[in-house]
Amino acid sequence: MKLTRREVLKSAAAASAFMALNGTLPDMAVAAPGEPDKWVKAVCRFCGTGCGVMIGVKNGKVVTVKGDPNNHNKGFLCLKGAELPSIVNATKSRVTRPYIRNNGQLVPASWDEAMNLVVSKFKSAIKEHGPTSVAYYGSGQALTEESYLANKIWKAGLRCNNVEGNPRLCMASAVGGYYTSFGKDEPIGCYKDIDAATCFFIIGANMSECHPILFKRVAARKQADPNVKIIVVDPRRTNTARIADIHVSFKPGTDLAILNAMAYVIIEEELDNPRFYNKYVNFMTNDKKKVDFKAYRKFLQDYTPEKAEKISGVPAEQIRTIAKMFGNASAPMSLWTMGLNQHIRGVWANNLTTNLHLLTGQLGKPGATNFSLTGQPNACGGVRDTGSLCHLLPAGRMIKKSKDRAALEKQWGLKPGTIAPKPGLHTIALWNAFSEGKIKAMFVLCTNPAQSLPNVNMYTEGMKRKDNFMVLSEPFMDAETVKYCDVLLPPAFWCEKRGVYGCTERRYSLLMKAIEPIGECRPDVDILLDFAKRMGVDPKVIPFNNVDDIWDEWREVSSATPYNFKGMTRARQEKESGILWPCPTEDHPGTCHRYVRGEDPNIPKDYKNKMWFYGTKDGKARLWLRPYAPAAEEPDAKYPMVLTTGRVIDHWHTGTMTMKSPVLRRSFPNAYVEVNIDDAKKHGIKNGDNVLLETRRDKMVFQAKVSDVCRPGLVFVPWFDQNLIINKLTLNAFDKGSKQPEYKICAVRIKKA
Ligand code: SF4
Repeated sequence: MKLTRREVLKSAAAASAFMALNGTLPDMAVAAPGEPDKWVKAVCRFCGTGCGVMIGVKNGKVVTVKGDPNNHNKGFLCLKGAELPSIVNATKSRVTRPYIRNNGQLVPASWDEAMNLVVSKFKSAIKEHGPTSVAYYGSGQALTEESYLANKIWKAGLRCNNVEGNPRLCMASAVGGYYTSFGKDEPIGCYKDIDAATCFFIIGANMSECHPILFKRVAARKQADPNVKIIVVDPRRTNTARIADIHVSFKPGTDLAILNAMAYVIIEEELDNPRFYNKYVNFMTNDKKKVDFKAYRKFLQDYTPEKAEKISGVPAEQIRTIAKMFGNASAPMSLWTMGLNQHIRGVWANNLTTNLHLLTGQLGKPGATNFSLTGQPNACGGVRDTGSLCHLLPAGRMIKKSKDRAALEKQWGLKPGTIAPKPGLHTIALWNAFSEGKIKAMFVLCTNPAQSLPNVNMYTEGMKRKDNFMVLSEPFMDAETVKYCDVLLPPAFWCEKRGVYGCTERRYSLLMKAIEPIGECRPDVDILLDFAKRMGVDPKVIPFNNVDDIWDEWREVSSATPYNFKGMTRARQEKESGILWPCPTEDHPGTCHRYVRGEDPNIPKDYKNKMWFYGTKDGKARLWLRPYAPAAEEPDAKYPMVLTTGRVIDHWHTGTMTMKSPVLRRSFPNAYVEVNIDDAKKHGIKNGDNVLLETRRDKMVFQAKVSDVCRPGLVFVPWFDQNLIINKLTLNAFDKGSKQPEYKICAVRIKKA
């Protein structure tokens, strides 16, 4: 059969595992037509995998792209990465000059007019209502330097901790999970672990569509060694699930019961590792009391596989099988993403996955790791590491800790007490406050909240208020949030500027500038520096002339912490394709496994034990006793089904970029609703029929895709489609710890429209 280039790419990415198992690994390295004058190094911006790319430039235009053979992806790209040139070249849709809203219309303005208006609004808000009346809302796609700079302008310059961003919507529960389990955020292993793992425990992640290049690596591992096991725990039978040895389908929201039941079986089968947990682990209750192993065993009595079956719908025997598979594996690797994070018990689900590793001692050796897959290309490096959230400070420090504030104030040369001691408003609270007119001025950069916030009608209504003000830095004129902003600024786009992305595995890679910004576009760093200057922020606080100055200060700030990446100089970044922190010196190779003596530079070489979880006071990790609790909105007689949302392989987030690629748009033009065959029969729905979805928030019509992917009682809708914004129907309940909203479960009813 002859396939088109697109078909090859798509099948390679979505179904690479099938091909791998058949013995033919797909070649996903792509070179579009064109003879470039030069190749420039960068990073793909369409998922947290963070593949290195080489941009081919000819006559000042991007003509092609190929995978960077020296980065972790070894030259491979998936379909979205291969389509980067068409997105960069979609210049007709670009915002190329500033605009100001006048009588409801955006009208062209000069940079001076736009920035003067922005600054006057921010100044008057601060004067009349204090610094907590303004806010910054950023992105896991902004460059690290942009997030670091905005964070410093707000927290040090304006004395305002209302710094948030879209990573709150995707990764906050993973941050909370790592922090509560190890005392520090970020994965402790790396991508290389995939090549050594002997059992993959994939829970709440559709890697084949959301992290295709990593999925390819998992499939390659399975191909290399058929004894390698893959367990997929997901209420949908995704392409990821189709290559699994065991697919565990469960009632959405009951994963906590399954994870506790797995721990129960591991102990029952004596697959636990007392030598490890007696030395390195504290058992902790929900109210932060230390307990012993006996108490943990007692707690698990509520989660025998039979009891968990009643909660989750997973046969007890299947729970026993996967627990034994995990417990017997010489190097199990767990992988998860939004399926665990976007829940009101997201942090707990993260903890319970980590518990399996702490209980079996499967950490700190090649292949054995608990690995959270981040959603965005720079959620880790840009937002988590720089502390650009309302409760954080750079490099894992916390606003509420006076010691952390004092240490940073010293490093930043601020007067003691400059950083406000009270955390700012988290994303949902922030947009609630904006909707209520309490936040008077908001700076939104590189994100599209009018489509991505849950229960979004509530917030777009708020954006329409006359007494609040939103400035938006957005490259595309047709992005949903443009409809609501008061000032629109034209930022330089991907590869029109330079800076760092930090992907899931703590890998920092430099994106070099390949082409000049079009029209009057400016890099966001320049926009933020201009803003700080006009706001009268002390130049000693913001002493930067360019993006490289910011990076150098950030390296220096990190060097006083375990994040230490002082060794990643610009010169080194230009030469190398990504380095993993910690990396304290210029000759340090980067760190694959944290907390391991001999690998992690934070552990003295003569330290007596193999592992040291230095993020906690006593150097021990924490195994949490977290009970199962139901979802915020369970199905009931009125709304008897569950709606879940997610991504498809062809599109990224709100589609503002990937819908610019004719190939991606044609391939996947509209959102749809995925309905199980049995449910479709029950409701008289056939493939392609219009189906009305109704929740307590809103109702919408989608075309049906009838299949066996969703389990009965569950429907799935992707969220990329601006014309069918599924977040009008979702719920804005959030996890108490991480403040991450619940996108995966809300009650819905369906009928043929
Ligand atoms: S896997 Fe992710 S980072 Fe890699 S090319 Fe695809 S979209 Fe880009």
